[in-house]
Amino acid sequence: MTQNPQQPEVNIGLVGHVDHGKTTLVQALSGSWTDQHSEEMKRGISIRLGYADATFRQIPGIDAPECYTVEETDEDGNETDVLRTVSFVDAPGHETLMATMLSGAAIMDGAVLVVSATEDVPQAQTEEHLMALDIIGIDNIVVAQNKVDLVDRDRAVENYEQIQEFVKGTVAEDAPIVPISAQQEVNIDLLIDAIEREIPTPERDESEAARMFTARSFDINRPGTTWEDLSGGVIGGSVVEGKLSEGEELELRPGREVDEGGQTEWRPITTDIRSLQAGGEMTDEVRPGGLCGVGTGLDPSLTKGDALAGQVAGEPGTLPPTREEFTMDVDLLERVVGEDEEEIEEISTGEPLMLTVGTATTVGAVTSARSGEAEVSLKRPVCAAEGAKIAINRRVGARWRLIGIGTLK
Ligand code: GDP
Ligand code: MG
Repeated sequence: MTQNPQQPEVNIGLVGHVDHGKTTLVQALSGSWTDQHSEEMKRGISIRLGYADATFRQIPGIDAPECYTVEETDEDGNETDVLRTVSFVDAPGHETLMATMLSGAAIMDGAVLVVSATEDVPQAQTEEHLMALDIIGIDNIVVAQNKVDLVDRDRAVENYEQIQEFVKGTVAEDAPIVPISAQQEVNIDLLIDAIEREIPTPERDESEAARMFTARSFDINRPGTTWEDLSGGVIGGSVVEGKLSEGEELELRPGREVDEGGQTEWRPITTDIRSLQAGGEMTDEVRPGGLCGVGTGLDPSLTKGDALAGQVAGEPGTLPPTREEFTMDVDLLERVVGEDEEEIEEISTGEPLMLTVGTATTVGAVTSARSGEAEVSLKRPVCAAEGAKIAINRRVGARWRLIGIGTLK
């Protein structure tokens, strides 16, 4: 079976400072398309990370870049050709728990950095998000210089030069900078052109074992549903390797905490895939790109209220181990990014850290810290393979701040 053309094939992060226009841009790019998502998807998975799908199209017989559009028909009512469907992950910009952004970054293939032309560059989260992209290793980047409708030409040029200066020496050094107005839908064709060139769909190896990061889980039954009519628990997230097919068995790790004779332990959960949803439609296979919903045979009380968010799902026996403690190599940033720019001190034994691994966020206590390495003991275990990237956050004042990146040993 060929892939449903409306299933997104690539995940693109939308990052940048609060109010610079990320959400407005997603709306401009996704048009009415997101309305086709079923209620369940809208209510469920999209909200937390702010996903929206967009289908890029091309008007036949017109040259690039003017041919690029998200409209289904051109001005004369003729149908446009589908290029590909992409999924935007709209990272929350204000008072950002950096971890939320990074848990999105774990499944991003590229990013659009939105920078408002009305403010000096860089604003705090512009810098923080770019550094996060750098750390996570996302280097397919397009910069959208937004709100150019609000400034005069001189200011636009000055701001453009500030952006060029700011990205120098960073992972976005060679990224195209496209002046746009998300609200007035100006230069959206140029932006699509840049995204098509800079953020290609990654090559996927379908023979790899399937791996899905869950971002949400829920109980879709209305209160009072009798048990004969009860639907199994639903998990939502993103497939990052291989593919999932209806009817297959599925294992989730770390699974659930089981209490036996006063001893608690985490055990994987096994179930089967009863239904699949991707790109807003029911389907029988899901490959990497965008969000998917997986209807399972699980007791919905297990999936209620995001209870399984942050877990890893895949074919039984193929998942990485569950870890209640681990050792990681640590690369600390030089300074805390943002307003205060405090220097970052070495990690010390006994301190609490917030760690993001895949879509899982957990708090750990440092049990041993040496230069460039730390051992942590976790409150909630994670399922992660050797080499997994870990975002390390320390409490600085009132919020958790990104202080470095770990690599699981
Ligand atoms: P976010 O916090 O980055 O998601 O920013 P929003 O998309 O919520 O936009 C913040 C405000 O800026 C909203 O009031 C938008 O209507 C406005 N805005 C966004 N893009 C543009 C633009 O291109 N031009 C103008 N004039 N306003 C914009
Ligand atoms: Mg927003």
